[in-house]
Amino acid sequence: MLAPGTFDGRTVLITGGGTGLGLECSRKFATLGATVVCASRSLEHHATLLGEAEENGWTVTSRAVDVREAKDVRELVAEIVDLHGSLDVLVNNAAGNFIRPSLKLAPKGWRTVIDIALNGVFYCSQAAGRVMAEAGFGRIVNIVAPYAETGMPGVAHSASAKAGVLALTKTLAAEWAGLGIRVNAVSPGPFKSRGAAERLWPTEAMEDAVRESIPVKRFGHTDEVADAVLYLAAPDADFVNGCCLTIDGGWRLPTGLTGGLPADKVARRKDNDD
Ligand code: NAP
Repeated sequence: MLAPGTFDGRTVLITGGGTGLGLECSRKFATLGATVVCASRSLEHHATLLGEAEENGWTVTSRAVDVREAKDVRELVAEIVDLHGSLDVLVNNAAGNFIRPSLKLAPKGWRTVIDIALNGVFYCSQAAGRVMAEAGFGRIVNIVAPYAETGMPGVAHSASAKAGVLALTKTLAAEWAGLGIRVNAVSPGPFKSRGAAERLWPTEAMEDAVRESIPVKRFGHTDEVADAVLYLAAPDADFVNGCCLTIDGGWRLPTGLTGGLPADKVARRKDNDD
């Protein structure tokens, strides 16, 4: 969608940039000229990206960081600026999630998800925002989920974290616009990734049920979601600020009285088109 070289000279930090959606974003930014910094806890998760970078001549560096550690995040950002001269784009993609009915959700599980998916996003945004403000330029894209707006049974922790990130997106967008920083969000519906498959639809029956719940009857592709992330970070979106772009095949929409049945399958008491 974007012109070759769109991100020439830009440094992009992607949390969780070695797997799933983050990996796809890393590939696309690198292909369009960016220097990509992939950061997550396990360096093993960066192996695929680093292998592809070597094959394709991309500029990619890999760093181990836990986004829950504010001090480590600040050090990472300082190191990026030392090494690459600037930090221009931050993609807050790292998150954790699992299905647990709220009555059975242990405080530790709640804290872990909130810590990664909400506190981590704030720590990364603040550390990046400080250097972006100094440079007078920055783009931040946060990954949320449609249930940030609707809530969803089974994921109270993740829904609350993502709702917080949505509020943070709008808050920082307004607070930092005058500093040259734009903050937006992408809200993907279900797409297949290692983490999601293992924790959100671990059985074939659950996978079928999730697919069935999406009006277009298929999962999203990381490719489709990553395109939205890159758009929001690109000059093409310079006037877009504080927005949330939903890419979910209609998953967030209510299915209404017909439960999502195709129109021709809805039984009528009596045909009457008059
Ligand atoms: P994924 O492949 O499991 O990616 C999660 C990434 O986050 C991993 O690379 C992981 O790397 C990193 N991470 C986790 N905890 C971390 C921590 N404490 N510090 C640093 N990095 C950490 O999952 P995904 O499905 O692509 O998800 C990507 C984003 O999309 C998430 O924000 C998720 O909430 C969102 N999303 C996904 C779906 C879906 O259906 N898949 C739907 C809506 C929204 P390490 O293990 O190496 O730390």
